[in-house]
Amino acid sequence: MFDKILIANRGEIALRIQRACRELGIKTVAMHSEADRDLKHVRLADESVCIGPAPSTESYLNVPAVISAAEVCDAVAIHPGYGFLSENADFAERVEESGYVFIGPRPETIRIMGDKVAAIEAMKKSGVPCVPGSDGPLGDDERENLRIAREIGYPIIIKAAGGGGGRGMRVVHAEAALLNAISLTRSEAGAAFGNDVVYMEKYLENPRHVEFQVLADEHGNAIHLGERDCSMQRRHQKVIEEAPAPGITEEQRQRIGERCAEACRTIGYRGAGTFEFLYENGEFYFIEMNTRVQVEHPVTEMITGVDIVAEQIRIAAGEKLSYRQEDIVLRGHAMECRLNAEDPKTFMPCPGEITAFHAPGGPGIRVDTHIYAGYTVPPYYDSMIGKLIAHGNTRESAMARLRSALSEIVIEGIRSNIELHQDLISDAAFQAGGTNIHYLEKKLGL
Ligand code: ADP
Repeated sequence: MFDKILIANRGEIALRIQRACRELGIKTVAMHSEADRDLKHVRLADESVCIGPAPSTESYLNVPAVISAAEVCDAVAIHPGYGFLSENADFAERVEESGYVFIGPRPETIRIMGDKVAAIEAMKKSGVPCVPGSDGPLGDDERENLRIAREIGYPIIIKAAGGGGGRGMRVVHAEAALLNAISLTRSEAGAAFGNDVVYMEKYLENPRHVEFQVLADEHGNAIHLGERDCSMQRRHQKVIEEAPAPGITEEQRQRIGERCAEACRTIGYRGAGTFEFLYENGEFYFIEMNTRVQVEHPVTEMITGVDIVAEQIRIAAGEKLSYRQEDIVLRGHAMECRLNAEDPKTFMPCPGEITAFHAPGGPGIRVDTHIYAGYTVPPYYDSMIGKLIAHGNTRESAMARLRSALSEIVIEGIRSNIELHQDLISDAAFQAGGTNIHYLEKKLGL
C-alpha cells in the first residue's frame, strides 16, 4: 500500500479522500491555494503545501505546481478527486511520467471517454445501449446530414464530441433549423474545446438521469454497484441524488449493470467510474462515462457498504477488487442533498464567513462537509459546501430522516439552499419518485 498520497483537490472531497487514507494507514499531503489555508483537511493533513494564488488556474489546475507538490512532499500517488484535473488525460500522463501513481484510469482511457464519439463507439462494442444517432462524427455533406436527421427523427440534438459541463449542445426541432445548428455548434465547439467534431443524437424529451457505478481492477475484474437517480437538476447541476433509482427492477439493474462491467473489461478500465444514461419509457440510453469519483458516490456507499474511495486507492495500488459481483447486495435506500452557499431564490453564490454550524445526526445520517463555525467560504470556487446524506430501510424512511436532518442543520452567516431542499422533500411528485430531468426547473418556473 502507498506510504503517502497527495490530495489534489479541496473542500469536502479532499476531506473524504483524507478520511479514506487515514483508515488505510496512508499519510496525506494537502495541497492548497492561498485562499484555502483554513480548509479542514489542510489542518488535519500530515503535511501541507501552498501551491499558488486563489484562482484555480494558478493553483488547482496548475499541473507543474501539483507535480512539484508531490515531489517536495515525497508523495507516491496523487488522488485528483472530482472536477479540476480529475478527467484531464494530459495531467494523468504527466503524473505517471513523473513517476507517481495516478489514482484513476489509464490516461488513454480518460482520453477515449473524454471524446464522446469515441466513448459511444466503445460502448456499442460491449452492448451498452446508446441513443439512436449519427454513428460517428458529422461530415460536411449537407444532404447526408439532412438524411441522417430525417432517419433519426426530430427533435434531434447536435453535440460536440469534446463537450462537457452541459456545454456544446443544441436541440433542433425541425429540418429548417438543422444545417445552421450544425455549423453553429461546430464553430462554438472549435472555439470552446479546440475540437470541432460534432455528432447527432435523437433528443429524448422527458428522460430521467440514471447512472451506474462501476469498479474495475488491473487484473480484469469489474463489478457494478447498482444505479443512482440524479434527475433533480438545475442547469445540468444535480441537486438531489438517490440510490437505488425509483422503479428500476432488479432485472434491469443486473442487465444494464453487467453491460457496464463488461464494457470496463473490454476497454481495460481501471478504478471507479460512472456510466451515465438517460432513461425514458423503460429504456436506457448511454450518454457519457465519468472516469472519476462522483459527488454523489455516498448514496451508493450507503446502500452497498462499499467504501468507493478506499477501493479506488486499493485498485491504484495494484490490488484486486475486494468484492465479487455476488457480494454486492443493495440494502435500503439513500438520498443526498447537495448543500450550496447560494441564495435559495436567485441561486447566486453567497460566499462569506460561517458564524455558526450545527451538523444534524441520528440513525442513517451522514454529513460530508469541510465547513465549521468560523470558516470563510471563499468566492473563487464551486459553491458546494457539503452533502447531507440519509439512509433508511425504505425510500420513505430515507426521506423522513432527510427531512428531520434538514430541520436540524444550522448554517449561519451565509445563505444556503437548505430551504430549497426542505421544499423539494415535501414535493408530492418527488415523494412519489421518478420525476424527469426537467421537473425541478419547471417547478422553479425557469
Ligand atoms: P456533458 O458532458 O456536457 O455533461 P452529457 O452528454 O452528459 O454532456 O449531457 C448533458 C445533459 O444534456 C444530459 O444530462 C441531458 O440533460 C442533456 N442531453 C444530452 N443528450 C441528450 C439527448 N440525446 N436527449 C435529451 N437530452 C440530452
